[in-house]
Amino acid sequence: MTFAATILTLYPEMFPGPLGVSLAGRALSDGKWSCRPVQIREFATDKHRSVDDTPAGGGVGMVMRADVLAAALDASAVPGAPVLAMTPRGKPLTQERVRVIASGPGVTILCGRFEGIDERLYEGRPQIEPVSIGDYILSGGETAAIVLLDACIRLLPGVMGAPDSGEDESFETGLLEYPHYTRPVEWEGRTIPEVLRSGDHAKIAAWRKNQAEIDTRLRRPDLWERHEGARVQSPSGAHAKKRDQRT
Ligand code: SAM
Repeated sequence: MTFAATILTLYPEMFPGPLGVSLAGRALSDGKWSCRPVQIREFATDKHRSVDDTPAGGGVGMVMRADVLAAALDASAVPGAPVLAMTPRGKPLTQERVRVIASGPGVTILCGRFEGIDERLYEGRPQIEPVSIGDYILSGGETAAIVLLDACIRLLPGVMGAPDSGEDESFETGLLEYPHYTRPVEWEGRTIPEVLRSGDHAKIAAWRKNQAEIDTRLRRPDLWERHEGARVQSPSGAHAKKRDQRT
């Protein structure tokens, strides 16, 4: 099955862009996903092909028109797939959400520009899910869409090799991943931790788990708190079982 990505944008030439190379590029040539950028301007009805107008109530910048975006969406959405609007006002994107999207038929992505989108579009098309890729402001939704697609594509069946299935990555277990090392064994007086050279797989796994926990606690106290909360809330669950095995 091909994962169908339709992207509504004022800059269709930005796609596939960086998704045309490496893993995603190969997957595109192999037909594992398809990329259909749709020019929003084609759905404008006035002679100037306007897609935006001044903000009601005053203020700087321009706002994307609900009528034009709705027409583009109604004509182009991938059947049965989620519809996402990239916006810093959206729900933060998570690996969990990415996995769900990647397991479906595809995705329709609406890329904002200017100050954003007329709010009535969300009311009139309640299937639209506002999604943010982080607490910072980009100049347009296209780069956010590329991030989202990259995260989905690498999870499509056959895109990564079996040994590299991605289940070990940061966030998959609720923690950041452990640190990595490679040759040379010594660099600028720093050596690879001895345990990683021991060949003792149980010890290595325990060391990696411990490092993942330390890094998560230090760098992402929000993730750590959630991880610990989940462990306390389900004492009979997988986390508790792992904890019991350690003690
Ligand atoms: N005025 C908006 C605000 O303060 O929320 C920011 C608009 S931004 C300059 C233009 C477009 O870039 C947005 O409509 C959205 O599509 C995209 N964008 C910017 N930051 C984003 C983020 N963190 N996540 C997803 N999309 C983003």
